[in-house]
Amino acid sequence: MAAQPPKLSATRLRKLRAALESERAQLLGQVEELDDAADVKNWRESGFDDDPADAGSASFERETAQSLSLHAKGLLAQIEDALRRLDEDAYGVCATCDRRIEFVRLEALPYTTQCTECRRREESGR
Ligand SMILES: [Zn+2]
Repeated sequence: MAAQPPKLSATRLRKLRAALESERAQLLGQVEELDDAADVKNWRESGFDDDPADAGSASFERETAQSLSLHAKGLLAQIEDALRRLDEDAYGVCATCDRRIEFVRLEALPYTTQCTECRRREESGR
């Protein structure tokens, strides 16, 4: 068993928080745009109703926007969660094995809740 990664320094925590916050801001903008695109009212008002082909593609676009928006909201929830853990001083600990998560992993995926090892084990277990 490898030793636990070192505790995150204040500088690293600040860096991760900044990354989370900027990603959150970006996602919020995306969700707004996507929800706009997925809006049924907008879609009807754009006058595609007469042409079934156009209506079909508009509805496809709407569904795509809806599923992208859902995905972005899921990510957003994970980011909010990570920010809350930061506030509670519980950030950077693996939810599965309770060991600290490697900084390089957090840097790549600041909202992750699992260390590389547990993640790998879970993926290969499928
Ligand atoms: Zn773990």
